Amino acid sequence: MTQSAPQHLTKIVIVGGGTAGWISASMLAFKLRNQLCQVELIESADIGTIGVGEATIPPFITLLRNLGINEQDFISKTQGSFKLGIEFANWREKGQQFFHPFGDFGPKLDGHDFYQCWLKSQAMGDNTPIMDYCPTAIMAYQHKFMPPFMAAADSPIQLSNYALHFDASLVAKYLRDYAQGLGVVRHEDTVVEVHNHNNGFIKALQLQSGKLIEGDLFIDCSGFRGLLIDKNLNVKYQDWKQWLPCDRAVAMQTKKVAAPVPYTQSTAEDAGWRWTIPLQHRTGNGYVYSSEFCSDEQALTTLQQKVIGMPVNDPRVIPFSSGRREHFWHKNCVSVGLSSGFLEPLESTAIHLITRSIHFLLVNFPDRQCKQSLVDEYNRAMAWDYEYIRDFIILHYCSTQRNDSEFWRWCQNMSIPDSLQQRISLFKENAIARHDLDQLFKPESWQCIYEGMGIRPQTYNHFVDLSDYSQLFSNMQSAKQRAQQSVSSALNHEAFLKQFCPAATPTPVNKKGA
Ligand SMILES: Cc1cc2nc3c(=O)[nH]c(=O)nc-3n(C[C@H](O)[C@H](O)[C@H](O)COP(=O)(O)OP(=O)(O)OC[C@H]3O[C@@H](n4cnc5c(N)ncnc54)[C@H](O)[C@@H]3O)c2cc1C
Repeated sequence: MTQSAPQHLTKIVIVGGGTAGWISASMLAFKLRNQLCQVELIESADIGTIGVGEATIPPFITLLRNLGINEQDFISKTQGSFKLGIEFANWREKGQQFFHPFGDFGPKLDGHDFYQCWLKSQAMGDNTPIMDYCPTAIMAYQHKFMPPFMAAADSPIQLSNYALHFDASLVAKYLRDYAQGLGVVRHEDTVVEVHNHNNGFIKALQLQSGKLIEGDLFIDCSGFRGLLIDKNLNVKYQDWKQWLPCDRAVAMQTKKVAAPVPYTQSTAEDAGWRWTIPLQHRTGNGYVYSSEFCSDEQALTTLQQKVIGMPVNDPRVIPFSSGRREHFWHKNCVSVGLSSGFLEPLESTAIHLITRSIHFLLVNFPDRQCKQSLVDEYNRAMAWDYEYIRDFIILHYCSTQRNDSEFWRWCQNMSIPDSLQQRISLFKENAIARHDLDQLFKPESWQCIYEGMGIRPQTYNHFVDLSDYSQLFSNMQSAKQRAQQSVSSALNHEAFLKQFCPAATPTPVNKKGA
């Protein structure tokens, strides 16, 4: 069989300079080393970015490390703060709250998962909440912070993990400088027309200035507009409203009034939920709601009544539809970011999906033909990620016990995807939180939402009975003590920020809404 050399891409063109555009440009430029092919990005000064998207999950730290970006410098320049997890209030019932920490609950004991030992202790009559053992949760609630790499090798803090909060507009600017430093060519211009080849592949983009930008592969990071994937290639959108009823958000920033806490807050309201994201200089707030159960005016009033601190911008209503593109990659166009789909920000997963898109693109890197087998593989991998996260988010809604508003009554009675139903049954009947390959959320995350929402399995893992229970319980008590002691040596979160990554004075950036 004869082999032919691949017809290398010569130019990748990215449309959009929001978080998706600049993460894509950074990852591609880093990997391609400005040698294999050129990367160019077009961003419009007339069309703003979405301007929200300020909470992340731990893989974002991995992204920074993979790109060789200094974490302290990044946090300083993006007014960032640390995030140890998410506090959920009023989700199960009004007045109840629980924490979803990043990191493990506790160490393995006699070879058993800590969670299974804890389940047995509950079955034996103990009622210590699992978060009392969890170093990440203990640290969060004491408003402290220490990254595992600063803790002693045998410290329980090694079981914790963290992510970041940041100012989205400063992140785009930071990554723009980074990507341009790696040779990415930036055009500040607006795409006004798309030219296609006869086979439907995109050939070139006509810019307002008169320039024509040709390319072999196009990355659509144009946000909800979906300029290439939707408007030009007409790829359909799967709407998941039957499972994720929220379709609007009202967002507003307020002045900082207190030290930033090291976690995101998610507070359930009558027709959705409200986020609070503390940064070094201000707080991001928003109410995600369903337009079927709440008007924009009602949502705005709720948000204004609940925020603490003076507003620093006008509130903005952002419509969206949860779902995904039927094909994320079609012909020679890959959609990344909001153009590819949207899952509401309850677990801060959208920015992660951007990095996954480029990761899968690099794993399945095409030549100029964009062979269908490669495109299919990419689309399969992305669809799996989207559906996995979708199920995780739905779990928060469908397991509510609230019946005090029409919205929550609807959630209690909603139908759920079979894939989620299977997971819940497996967990309830067998205490197994499915272990998927390459999963984003570890079993601990699922266990935490189940427990927080009041879904406790009927049993625990049989193997735990192989160990002597009094010894196991005593080991649990010392794990708890060690976790508490280790946190006592951590700095207060704000003091940590001031010492290691104090906010740099932000440069004014274009904050025009999309
Ligand atoms: C309410 C809400 C809250 C969110 N919270 C979170 C969160 O906490 N965590 C998280 O991970 N994600 C969150 N997200 C998602 C996150 O905001 C996005 O995934 C992220 O900002 C990426 O957006 P984007 O770059 O795809 O689009 P945008 O930010 O909208 O950028 C679009 C870009 O395309 C350019 N453009 C558009 N048309 C043209 C044209 N014709 N010519 C040239 N350029 C053009 C614009 O200039 C802009 O630069 C949230 C989203 C919403 C709606």
